[in-house]
Amino acid sequence: MLSKKLHEAINAQINAEMWSAYLYLSMSVDAANKGHKGISNWFAVQFKEEQAHAQIFINYLISRGCRVELKAIDSVETSWDSPLAVFKATLEHEKKVTSLIHNLYEIAVEDKDYASQSMLKWFIDEQVEEEESAQDIIDELERVGDNSLGLYMVDKDLSTRTYTTPAPLAGKE
Ligand code: MG
Repeated sequence: MLSKKLHEAINAQINAEMWSAYLYLSMSVDAANKGHKGISNWFAVQFKEEQAHAQIFINYLISRGCRVELKAIDSVETSWDSPLAVFKATLEHEKKVTSLIHNLYEIAVEDKDYASQSMLKWFIDEQVEEEESAQDIIDELERVGDNSLGLYMVDKDLSTRTYTTPAPLAGKE
């Protein structure tokens, strides 16, 4: 059995992942409204990934015989000033998610819950990638600055991103 503390924290994390999904859906819609189809695509993929993260935690609680409790999802911002602003907001958000994941891991360590530690390691690695990809896009947008051809190229590049099922969900979606 999971400790009550870890069980509750994972239930809260499911909500945080769903809130992340909703945030990225909002960013996708905002980008589409502003004619940035590639950026919209990038966030649409991000939206699906966050739902997958929630599903991984849900599956884990079920597999450990723990009750899943879905709570209301808070509202999200609906507009960002520029592509650079939206990716900076993304990086800040992912840093917060990283600290939530690290907190879950710390509880699992305190509990000597090795199965939960093993499950959480995938998320620790995933967060390194999440922060790196947001930072890479920020770097590109900062290089491009106000150059509209440059922004067009970045947008074109982001249009190529496709969703792939995260490894812990492979064969379970
Ligand atoms: Mg996530």
